[in-house]
Amino acid sequence: MVINEMSKDECGAFLASASLGRLGCSLDNQPYVVPIYFVYEPDSIYVFSTFWQKTEWMRANPKVCLQADEITNQSQWRSVIASGRYQELSQPQYTAEREHARTLLEERFRWWQNAFAERQLRLGNHLITSLFFRIHVDSMTGLLAISESA
Ligand SMILES: Cc1cc2nc3c(=O)[nH]c(=O)nc-3n(C[C@H](O)[C@H](O)[C@H](O)COP(=O)(O)OP(=O)(O)OC[C@H]3O[C@@H](n4cnc5c(N)ncnc54)[C@H](O)[C@@H]3O)c2cc1C
Repeated sequence: MVINEMSKDECGAFLASASLGRLGCSLDNQPYVVPIYFVYEPDSIYVFSTFWQKTEWMRANPKVCLQADEITNQSQWRSVIASGRYQELSQPQYTAEREHARTLLEERFRWWQNAFAERQLRLGNHLITSLFFRIHVDSMTGLLAISESA
């Protein structure tokens, strides 16, 4: 197996083709990672989100990262980490950006389902509030593993 670094363009192309990632945030030296669906376009990652721990933590500390991967087998895989800053797309200030995020996410099948299903588990029939947020991507790194027999 050979492992190579991916270029910024390769990282971007991979994130544009991916939809599930792990969002990392932290508060008071405690990391927190949750799976989320996302859409990438150059320098921005858009997410539809429910409120609670992750949103409270990102509001307090906007430095976040997102990791996504494609694992074919133990010696053939790609992994990308994007680091950046959390920005909540609140209304009315970011109405245009929210609509842009919604349009991009709508292209993905049932992008809202996991977020709402998880909330329903915790809140039952109480009103579920939601938001869109953007990660302004400051840097990306990627690793690509290729099987030597390939
Ligand atoms: C495949 C998949 C896709 C998802 N996509 C989205 C999405 O696009 N948007 C979205 O908002 N949510 C999504 N979720 C749910 C997401 O992973 C979180 O569970 C959810 O957003 C709640 O996060 P929170 O910090 O607000 O939870 P809180 O309700 O504040 O969490 C309370 C505690 O529950 C535990 N917990 C919370 N979530 C998880 C988890 N996933 N696994 C294990 N323990 C957990 C933690 O210990 C946390 O401290 C997805 C989940 C899966 C599995």
